[in-house]
Amino acid sequence: MASSSGLRLLGGRRIAGSPEKALIASASEIYMARGCDLCFPGRKAVVFVTGLCDDSCFYCPVSREKLGRDVFYVNEVRVSSVDEALAEVARIGARGASLTGGDPLVAFHRTVELVNAFKEYFGPGFHLHLYTSGRRLTAEAAIALWRAGLDEVRIHPTEPSLLSRVGLVRRHTGMSVGVEMPIAPGMEALAIEAVRAVERFGGDFVNLNEMEIVEPNARALLARGYTESRLRPFTVRGSLEAALRVLEWAAENSRVPVHFCPASFKDSIQTGNRMRTSAHLDAYWYEEPTASGTLVWGEVRGSNAPEGLGERRGSTILLPPDEALLSYIARRYGGEAFIVEAHPTPDRSPIVSERRVD
Ligand code: SF4
Repeated sequence: MASSSGLRLLGGRRIAGSPEKALIASASEIYMARGCDLCFPGRKAVVFVTGLCDDSCFYCPVSREKLGRDVFYVNEVRVSSVDEALAEVARIGARGASLTGGDPLVAFHRTVELVNAFKEYFGPGFHLHLYTSGRRLTAEAAIALWRAGLDEVRIHPTEPSLLSRVGLVRRHTGMSVGVEMPIAPGMEALAIEAVRAVERFGGDFVNLNEMEIVEPNARALLARGYTESRLRPFTVRGSLEAALRVLEWAAENSRVPVHFCPASFKDSIQTGNRMRTSAHLDAYWYEEPTASGTLVWGEVRGSNAPEGLGERRGSTILLPPDEALLSYIARRYGGEAFIVEAHPTPDRSPIVSERRVD
């Protein structure tokens, strides 16, 4: 049987997929959390609700500009209100959103307001999942989030006792609930405990993320003896093998679907798909989306061309990236012509390349 992601069982074993895309251990059929089905093709917005958090995990990948600060982003675009977040999610054409941080429950009222606003504006089919350590997840908080329209809760167990929050969500709400945690050598026991807890409390899934080694966590990881994998750049050596040990255990001993999410897949394929969708939906008439998800356009700077020729921004005229046209306008009306490529953010930054046209 195949999921919407198209993965198939391999040779009758109960671990399916590939280490580049995803690995899944499932007793009955290929199964991924609903939130992953939309995340896979990059149709989910990442809403960073706040950088505030009660924990200090040694592997925390959140940047210093965000962690511990009450800042609010949609993908990498800074926003300052729920309405701005809504507008940015609409702009990129997302079909759902993940609410993350920090811990979104530290900014509880903002989180509930976001869930309400997304469901009201985009409708009940707009899928929302939330990451939390569970430290602040009381029955009242879970019920409030469920009533606002939240679909799925992913507990990130920063300590084993927090695994019981799976049961709390199951008992008090109708939301899907599971555990999501990074995996590296030495963390297999906690991951197996998570699988057991999800089974015991009637939860739905366990997701294991390949542990990334990035600037904010590199020093702490190295101090604990972790090193970077030579075969899988920017990941902790042995993370994949640790995940395989847990998947094999789960395939033999549990009916809980366990899913391993490779870092390269998240970074290159999901983010690439998300950028390609935004680029297509948000392109102005003079911009061309590229296969890599950027936008390309032409500029003639410092030109005296008449009104109505292209899109005017001060003394710059924006036009399609046609070299012959740009060169003709610059010769006829003065100015310098360029072809510019940038990310499909509202302010078209960062610029990827800029090339002068003669
Ligand atoms: S709970 Fe998440 S945001 Fe908070 S310190 Fe741990 S990894 Fe970082």
